[in-house]
Amino acid sequence: MSVLEIVQIPTRRDNYVYLLRDAETGSIGVVDPSDAQPVMEELDRRSWQLTHILNTHHHGDHTGGNVELKERYGCTIVGPRADHARIPGIDVQVGDSDRYAFGEARAEVFDVPGHTHGHIAFWFAESEALFCGDTLFALGCGRVFEGTFEQMWASLTKLRALPDTTRVYCAHEYTQANARFALTVETGNQALKDRAAEVDALRTADKRTVPSLLGIEKATNPFLRADEPSVARAVGLPNAGPVDVFAEVRERKDNF
Ligand code: ZN
Ligand code: FE
Repeated sequence: MSVLEIVQIPTRRDNYVYLLRDAETGSIGVVDPSDAQPVMEELDRRSWQLTHILNTHHHGDHTGGNVELKERYGCTIVGPRADHARIPGIDVQVGDSDRYAFGEARAEVFDVPGHTHGHIAFWFAESEALFCGDTLFALGCGRVFEGTFEQMWASLTKLRALPDTTRVYCAHEYTQANARFALTVETGNQALKDRAAEVDALRTADKRTVPSLLGIEKATNPFLRADEPSVARAVGLPNAGPVDVFAEVRERKDNF
């Protein structure tokens, strides 16, 4: 077991790409390389040799760097079994409850369909780090493009079951816009109000709001709280089940 060094690289408009280093073996990974160039620059700066690419899903802003990075470093590409045909250059297919050994660090893999058909998340328990792509965001969740609301809710509750101390390394800086929406749902949630103020202060200072803490997400992210009576009441569905409440919150966000 090994604790990873994690480097956050902002790319494009609002993407986050992550470098992982396992000090014990010198394995160097990159999670969801949107583009090769910024990743190569960061690797060069540190004199690191890329050994692995970990992809959460097939979208171009998560796999756009795959082929070029593999050509340059000969690295191993790990991605979702359920969507292997859409992951450029994939070598290793993983899925639900697989354990993937990245150097001496172990990732537990979760299938988290909804945003895409074959979306996965990587949880490094020892490092208290969750790489969840576009499934869970700080104060938000991904749009449901390819799956059903039921699948997305099941995926989010799977991630919600992880320890409060888990850091959520999501793939986009969407937090401020998510906070504005969240405040329209749970108007009486003081933890949310406090956090929204914090997020505004960070963004005003041009600082990052990611990673966030899962314990804080559980208390403030409306998409993780669809089974809270306060959220059901807030969207006018006091007697509905969590899937219907989740669907209503997600649809409101789509139109926000
Ligand atoms: Zn995506
Ligand atoms: Fe994305």
